[in-house]
Amino acid sequence: MLSGVSRAFSDDIAIDLGTANTLVHVVGRGIIIDEPSVVAVQVRGGQREMLAVGLKAKTMLGRTPEPIELIRPMRDGVIADFIATEEMLRQFIQRAKTMLGFRRPRILICVPAGATPVERRAVYETAVQAGARKVYMIEEPVAASLGAGLPIDAPSAFMVVDIGGGTTDIAVLARGNVIQARSLKVAGNAMDEAIMRYVRRRHHLVIGEANAERIKIEAGTALAQPNGRQVEIHIKGRDLREGRTKSAVLGPQDMAEALSGCIGDMAEFIQRALEDLPPEAAQQVTKWGIMLTGGGALLDRLDVALAQRTGAKFVVPDTPMHCVIRGSAAILETLPEREHLLISP
Ligand code: ADP
Ligand code: MG
Repeated sequence: MLSGVSRAFSDDIAIDLGTANTLVHVVGRGIIIDEPSVVAVQVRGGQREMLAVGLKAKTMLGRTPEPIELIRPMRDGVIADFIATEEMLRQFIQRAKTMLGFRRPRILICVPAGATPVERRAVYETAVQAGARKVYMIEEPVAASLGAGLPIDAPSAFMVVDIGGGTTDIAVLARGNVIQARSLKVAGNAMDEAIMRYVRRRHHLVIGEANAERIKIEAGTALAQPNGRQVEIHIKGRDLREGRTKSAVLGPQDMAEALSGCIGDMAEFIQRALEDLPPEAAQQVTKWGIMLTGGGALLDRLDVALAQRTGAKFVVPDTPMHCVIRGSAAILETLPEREHLLISP
């Protein structure tokens, strides 16, 4: 068991290490870093040099004489590239330290509920290597539900569906414990790919992933309804048949059609998770409403579309992309009372 956890100090930090975005919260200060989980890499003479991380890495693309590669060190919620993840964490922690004049901080970091012991250990070791004085860990859905405002210590069961970049993670909690956890590899990135495929099929246009993501964020909707989002977006790309640049307009109908496969997969996955719960827990979950967190929860009318397909009620909290970091920070700031929520590496 963990013991001797003291209350939080002003040099303690919480980290949401996500596939798409990494967030850092400093006790008493709030979120100081909210940046894409990317590392800019240059390969010289077979040696890999890491130049920058996060937003800075993104802006370097195409601006240097020598070619730079952007790598995403996390995949599907777990570490895919240890060295790059460590470098990214080190730079983020360093930035927090410079900003605040830290000693080596204590770090609370979350791991997916479905992570294997080896994957958990990897996150632990990486945080230690990146400069933490001490590392605490919690399961992501515990943080997400707390950050979404659920009374997690209450006797009721709650379901949280976190839609991130790589995965949609379902977790059912009861009295602060995860009683069911599963993960589907259909989330934000899959939606972007679905938009790329749709545009290719319908308009014979080839667009990039970044462009598809922008279209999703600016014009995406899960349902085309008269009272819904009515954004039209003009896109440009290379025409597959003629090879020249061509443009097209995408509206809500296109978005709903492009995304319907992904949303159907998610709905089916949620439905199955509900069916596999003990009847009493399933009832409690549906009575409260299923909480949608993560960036994917921002998709217009996703809650309505999922409700239509599953018959369950869904709730989208304020700033769903901040639920995990908000909950992690809340746990960190109320140590040692919330020590029972920590997991060992
Ligand atoms: P992770 O935890 O995996 O890092 P996030 O919770 O940060 O993921 O969510 C990132 C995903 O959310 C990306 O796929 C991004 O495109 C998507 N996203 C962000 N904003 C929106 C939006 N307004 N509508 C739909 N998807 C969005
Ligand atoms: Mg996340």
